[in-house]
Amino acid sequence: MSDSVFIGELSWKDYAARVEADNPVVLLPVGSLEQHGHHMSMNVDVLLPTSVCEQVARRSNALVAPTLTYGYKSQQKSGGGNHYPGTTSLDGATLTHTVLDVIREFARHGVRRVAIMNGHFENSMFIVEGIDLALRELRYAGIHDMRIMTLSYWDFIHDPQVLETLYPEGFLGWDIEHGGVFETSLMLALYPNLVSMDKVVDHPPAKFPPYDMFPVVPERTPAPGTLSSAKGATREKGELILEVCVAGITRALDQEFGAA
Ligand SMILES: [Zn+2]
Repeated sequence: MSDSVFIGELSWKDYAARVEADNPVVLLPVGSLEQHGHHMSMNVDVLLPTSVCEQVARRSNALVAPTLTYGYKSQQKSGGGNHYPGTTSLDGATLTHTVLDVIREFARHGVRRVAIMNGHFENSMFIVEGIDLALRELRYAGIHDMRIMTLSYWDFIHDPQVLETLYPEGFLGWDIEHGGVFETSLMLALYPNLVSMDKVVDHPPAKFPPYDMFPVVPERTPAPGTLSSAKGATREKGELILEVCVAGITRALDQEFGAA
């Protein structure tokens, strides 16, 4: 039997045998195709949750489903906005129904434990809605034992000492981290060939009014598309973030599913 943690790399026989024998947690990474400044590729929100899922799966006997590679529309105050070339987004209902469809299929295979790992801030509530609709539908179908966790991996970074190491000048919040120290450090640790530190545009953290305007006023996003500067990003910070996230998520899975 293949020992890959990626469902897509297993034969259907091996996958079905794993599900029947171990009732594994199935991890579903959800990303986006979104600009991440001048210095990084646009698939950051796909690669990072996929890598975190892979490392969690290796420690906890979970499986990793193919990543959803498109996400909900980039919002100006968390992703720069949906007006940049390249950024390619789904309507909320499309994402919600994709999550619903995939959960329904997992249930049909006999999977009963799912963890959805979000890699793109704007996806959160559309994932929740997909989970809610799926559980409602499964209840109507007489399936009552499906349990689903959802998380955004950056929420596992909350230790003040870790934040102090990552942001010696003070942490400004996850929403304006878009393309900043956090994601860039992780990319330097995992995919250094997709980062050009010499193209980082050093700019002050984005400042927005306490409301949103539609259509957006593009000039309110710092021109490179990042919401804070990635200048302080390092591979060492990325390795620290990765270890804290993978350890914390593995513990959470163990606590909720007894999976580790
Ligand atoms: Zn991102």
